[in-house]
Amino acid sequence: MDGDYESALEEKPLEFMTSIANTGGSCDGQGIIPDGDHYTCWCSCGEWNVEAPDQHEGLRLARLHTGSIAE
Ligand SMILES: [Zn+2]
Repeated sequence: MDGDYESALEEKPLEFMTSIANTGGSCDGQGIIPDGDHYTCWCSCGEWNVEAPDQHEGLRLARLHTGSIAE
């Protein structure tokens, strides 16, 4: 599903969360979830969970985590 997760993140994060909840174990998808004054970012691999100041930073960190962009 290359490329699909990015648009899913921005359009329907909660539905996207549900859709990947059962995959697990690998970096199939990342969630950027509003949490108070920041965003909580996590990955379906279960080994990545960080906070970001905004959604764009969260997406950038997610791409770094999955290696889809270079710093
Ligand atoms: Zn991951």
